[in-house]
Amino acid sequence: VKSLCVYCGSRNGIDARYLKEAQALGKLLADSNIRLVYGGGSLGLMGAISQAVEENGGQVHGILPEFLLGIEAINVVQRERHTTEIVPSMHVRKQRMFEESDAFLAMPGGIGTLEELVEMMTWAQLGRHEKPILLLNVDDFWSPFRSLIQHMEDAGFLHNMDRLSPKWITSAKDLISALKDTN
Ligand code: AMP
Repeated sequence: VKSLCVYCGSRNGIDARYLKEAQALGKLLADSNIRLVYGGGSLGLMGAISQAVEENGGQVHGILPEFLLGIEAINVVQRERHTTEIVPSMHVRKQRMFEESDAFLAMPGGIGTLEELVEMMTWAQLGRHEKPILLLNVDDFWSPFRSLIQHMEDAGFLHNMDRLSPKWITSAKDLISALKDTN
């Protein structure tokens, strides 16, 4: 995996562990020479992880819809280690994030994070891609989602579970071994 797409909140969340984990993940990506692909924002966990990657000497590529400039991002960052691509819509943003990445990881976040994660799972379920999907379950943040997926499976609504099963990790430091497992 050369480029990892990280979906995460445009807010920090209440628990300080979310922010700490975003910073730890950013440093790990930089140290492992894995480029961060993300939504291009400068707020919340999105801002924290992109800053941590850049500060630790890594590479960042942000993909931001034009209308979110001034809302999720203060300005269009074009630096040596941090580039920003401005796209016309949310749909193009997700498509471009998909194209630029070899794997996807969801950190804690809100509706937008959930939407992006679930879209990658639906595409996997339909056989549109085989790129690994990981969930960083900081402090059990995603456990209710795991229960929902289990509930859907128990109720007989999931198909091709083997294709969409995400990898669960509880800490950023488990990322590299989890990515190796997916190969
Ligand atoms: P949130 O988890 O709600 O803080 O949002 C995290 C990121 O997801 C933000 O950059 C949002 O702009 C983005 N987002 C929200 N909804 C969508 C969508 N439908 N398509 C693409 N990105 C989205």
